[in-house]
Amino acid sequence: MRLTPLEAWTCRTVCPGGERLSRERIDAYQLEMLRQTVDWAKERSPFYRERLAGVSGRGLRGLQDLTALPFTTADDLRRRPQRFLCVSQSEVSRVVTLPTSGTTGDPKRVFFTAADQERTIDFFHHGMATLAGPGDRVLILLPGELPGSVGDLLMKGLDRLGATGVPHGPVRDFHRTLDVMEAERIDCLVGVPVQVLGLARTGRGRAAPVGVLLSTDHVPEALSGALRRAWGCRVYTHYGMTEMGFGGGVECEAGIGYHFREADLCVEIVDPATGNPVPEGEAGEVVFTTLTRRAMPLIRYRTGDVSRFLPDSCPCGSVLKTMERVRSRLGHVRILAGGGTLSMADLDEAVLAVDGVLDFRASLAGERGRDRLRIETRLTADACPSDTFAAIKEALHALPVINSARRAGTLALDVGPPPEGQTSGMEGAKRVLADLRF
Ligand SMILES: [Zn+2]
Repeated sequence: MRLTPLEAWTCRTVCPGGERLSRERIDAYQLEMLRQTVDWAKERSPFYRERLAGVSGRGLRGLQDLTALPFTTADDLRRRPQRFLCVSQSEVSRVVTLPTSGTTGDPKRVFFTAADQERTIDFFHHGMATLAGPGDRVLILLPGELPGSVGDLLMKGLDRLGATGVPHGPVRDFHRTLDVMEAERIDCLVGVPVQVLGLARTGRGRAAPVGVLLSTDHVPEALSGALRRAWGCRVYTHYGMTEMGFGGGVECEAGIGYHFREADLCVEIVDPATGNPVPEGEAGEVVFTTLTRRAMPLIRYRTGDVSRFLPDSCPCGSVLKTMERVRSRLGHVRILAGGGTLSMADLDEAVLAVDGVLDFRASLAGERGRDRLRIETRLTADACPSDTFAAIKEALHALPVINSARRAGTLALDVGPPPEGQTSGMEGAKRVLADLRF
């Protein structure tokens, strides 16, 4: 198995004297960068000057001291993003405004300098080497029209790798994108999981790439398996968000979880209720601190994503940590009327495993102490609707939580096509089980 290319890349930053990369070296480097980040943020941003009053970089004696610092939340970013800014407006080369989904209703804004973006391009260059190489043609099914957008930075990273990025943007029409894949002789692609599944199931083996990188949303095992069967390709997942500088971590050939860009990010897992670090290997909320960001450093930023660090070292042989694939987000797990929990990730594993499913939307409604789970499903053109809907029901009944709720009479299940006229626009980037009960 090939060692993750992030290992050698991280080593160049962490061990500039040519020493061997080790966990101790990474920890020492992260501590030094953390000290600089705390001082930089405190000196320059009004937000952290207030939030970190009484704290100094020098006062941090070990990485464990990070856990004594206060968290930064998405709501902090929404309230007054300008207060995070550590450089003058003229040094900001890119501002990303994120659509609102939080409690205050204001959009989040994230600022980057050219140097911040350079770190991301460098990460994309080396991270993409996991699946692509010189001469490869890589289709980018992510937004890339604006300079400094994720697709634009990925294009630049691929160029340094000697590969050719082919900008495309999100998939709107499966057949049209499959035509592009054939015409452009695509070797690899990067896209949103359910959109890529739609391509594989619509094309039935047509235009098969050899490598696929899935990003932007949780990746069900059922979906990766369907891609591998349809295309015979390798499937990797990426974890990142705009606040991380788009890129965060990418899977290696072992395919068990992400290795992070540890020279740029320090990642922790905390108990979401208490904020305390969880014991090694246990699941909790993913929290990260930027170590090299100049425009807008983020210290202990709570992502709302749930995962854990795998306790054993990765089979690829890397000393980098391995974080399990993110399957759920805090606040996105629904408690059923009769007890038990259900999330979109659970539904995805069952429903997307059924051949002929392109995409689906799920919602829970309430009726006199009972839940009604509605699954609106888009099917491939060649799928038989009655057989496919029956197979979806069977797959859902096999989920223990649904099975016991049905037996107890506290859950009814509707499976069918989307309402008339709503056949498009289902393939949103983030999949959530909508709760319409309250
Ligand atoms: Zn690995």
